[in-house]
Amino acid sequence: MGFVRAFRASGGDADSGRRLFERIGAFLADQRLEPEPGNYAFAYHLLADPEGPLARAVAVLTEGGVRLTRRDIESLGCDPPPASGDGAPSTQRAEGLVARTQMQVEGFEDMVSAMRTETEGFGRDLAASAEAISRSAGPEHAATMVGEVGRITATMLNRVRTAEARLESATREASELRQKLEEARDNARRDPLTDLPNRRAFEEAFAAQAGTGDIVCLAVCDIDHFKSVNDRFGHAVGDRVLKAIADALRQACAGHLVARYGGEEFAVLFAGVDIDGAQRTLDAARARVATKRYRIRESDMPLGEITFSAGLTRATGEDSYQTLFQRADALLYAAKSAGRNCLRTG
Ligand code: GH3
Ligand code: MG
Ligand code: MG
Repeated sequence: MGFVRAFRASGGDADSGRRLFERIGAFLADQRLEPEPGNYAFAYHLLADPEGPLARAVAVLTEGGVRLTRRDIESLGCDPPPASGDGAPSTQRAEGLVARTQMQVEGFEDMVSAMRTETEGFGRDLAASAEAISRSAGPEHAATMVGEVGRITATMLNRVRTAEARLESATREASELRQKLEEARDNARRDPLTDLPNRRAFEEAFAAQAGTGDIVCLAVCDIDHFKSVNDRFGHAVGDRVLKAIADALRQACAGHLVARYGGEEFAVLFAGVDIDGAQRTLDAARARVATKRYRIRESDMPLGEITFSAGLTRATGEDSYQTLFQRADALLYAAKSAGRNCLRTG
């Protein structure tokens, strides 16, 4: 019988608080758990809701009189799930869930391996007793007894096999969950059209870079008269142009972070190069895009000149991300005013 059922005693009259307290005490003593706040809170959540999910999980773990370990308690936890709309990002909640599932699977794994060790020991004992029985009892009596013990062993082995199968499927589910989470995390930071990192990824990369003390330059690039590409050739062709420019920037600025910042704007984070090096790289990208003759794949119709303008600046010690970005943006608009298809640095 599981411990939860053993402690699922009585209901709610005036004394129920005191009884809950006593049951918590009895539970902790029975499980040989210290009455520390963590253990106490765990027992409280468990015993206050004896039909709840925590109680069901504990019932599985303690089936057959197994005691809970500290790790079980940590992995099962007892924090109430955060209320929806409390501002906690959903990926963070999902990550917590996956970590908890993973820990439960690990706990389960330990339990199965303990069971296996026990079964092996039991098998050895069984062989020894079978031998002793056949020596001390008559052959007929010995055969009955050995048969009975053999049946018990087979039952136990079956249980281990079932537990192993359950463990295998739990492990698979946990790793699928982890993979889905990683995909979701990646999707949240990638632009699906160009496959470039998005603005969020760019800002995170900048924050990570800022702590390294490396030279950092930031560029903002914007396609010139892009609206007219859409107007003349349609949105689908506009999308292909965006992809082509994304590829050109990615190749020309290899080793640096190129992101699709939004619409027809791209941002580049140059790390470890001074502004002159960054300018050379970016101007080579600009020239490559400007000299390429883009055509519609199906009809071979030329799209005319496709160009972009850019503002490039180097971060100083006083810069925040906002001041740096604003400076690059102002330089971009200076480049637009200067006739487009050029870059301005400052
Ligand atoms: P400028 O040289 O001043 O930057 O002119 P522009 O036409 O490029 O700038 P404007 O801001 O007027 O227009 C940007 C256009 O980019 C409008 C919008 O429809 C288009 N655009 C933004 N995102 C996408 C997209 O994902 N796909 C396509 N096809 N067009 C997009
Ligand atoms: Mg724009
Ligand atoms: Mg534009």
